[in-house]
Amino acid sequence: MADKLLEVKNLKTSFFTHVGEVQAVRGVDFDLKAGEALGIVGESGSGKSVTSLSLMQLLQYPGTIKEGSILFEGDEIVTKSVKEMRRIRGNDIAMIFQDPMTSLNPVYTIGDQIMEAILEHQDVTKHQAREKAIKMLELVGIPSPEKRIDNYPHEFSGGMRQRAMIAIALSCEPKLLIADEPTTALDVTIQAQILELMKELKEKINTAIILITHDLGVVADLCSRIIVMYGGLIMEEGTVEDIFYEPKHPYTMGLLKSVPKLNNDKRERLVPIDGTPPDLIKPPTGCPFYARCQYSMKICQEQQPPFFSAGKGHRSACWLMHEDAPKVEGYSKTFKREVSHGTTD
Ligand code: SF4
Repeated sequence: MADKLLEVKNLKTSFFTHVGEVQAVRGVDFDLKAGEALGIVGESGSGKSVTSLSLMQLLQYPGTIKEGSILFEGDEIVTKSVKEMRRIRGNDIAMIFQDPMTSLNPVYTIGDQIMEAILEHQDVTKHQAREKAIKMLELVGIPSPEKRIDNYPHEFSGGMRQRAMIAIALSCEPKLLIADEPTTALDVTIQAQILELMKELKEKINTAIILITHDLGVVADLCSRIIVMYGGLIMEEGTVEDIFYEPKHPYTMGLLKSVPKLNNDKRERLVPIDGTPPDLIKPPTGCPFYARCQYSMKICQEQQPPFFSAGKGHRSACWLMHEDAPKVEGYSKTFKREVSHGTTD
């Protein structure tokens, strides 16, 4: 469909290590419209960051895309050359990471680094690039940008460095910004400011965003849709309302119990999910959440659950949604039609 900016189909990414093949992403399908913000949530090892690195073709050795397709504006990017990918990364897709200090070069000024990104991808003079860099710093809320442009990264605070990274990423007005845990290293106030900034920029520049996070709490404000990943697979996908108010997957329910409720005066204890994620060298045959799920049944261990539709655009890979599944306390089963492993419209 023409309005799809990104279409990911059956993406499988593995790391071929000396102890065996780590199947980090085991068949993931999703899509994204222009200007849309999607959150990909899961614990570490769920496959969310490997998915985003696969989209950018930034996997480190021994990681490789084994199978699948990534269409960006209808164009296959899995088969692009390093040179072609470098052009796409600067112009069309940009990425920001958790720790800006590892992405910023300490020996160049902030201004040099923004200007470099602009000069590499746009036909402008050095003077025009500097003017644009000042504008970008202003846009991301750096005070006195005409002075701070000549500062080095160590002269910026953590929050300002992350803003500078966003300025670099957005300087070429990409159609897609992938943000991998962009606020995890920051304190709560700065975290809220950075998320607010991304929201504002999304509206001003109409950049689509994929926000990768382990924290369900940070996606609600920025994203309209959420994908929940576990064991290299998508467990559930839906709107923010579906995921927060009508979760259909026990793993999503477990994640929600570990998010503090902002509108609740009572002090609630966060409930961690017991157990550890599956070994992705020998992934389970059935549901990857089987060993930690309080509702697990025999079929869960034997067969990977397909997606069941829980409404328009809402799907859950859980056998409890099957029409023959037993009623269990604490799980609201409303029978929904079974769908394939693909996306739901
Ligand atoms: Fe639990 Fe079975 Fe559903 Fe997996 S498929 S989440 S083990 S009930």
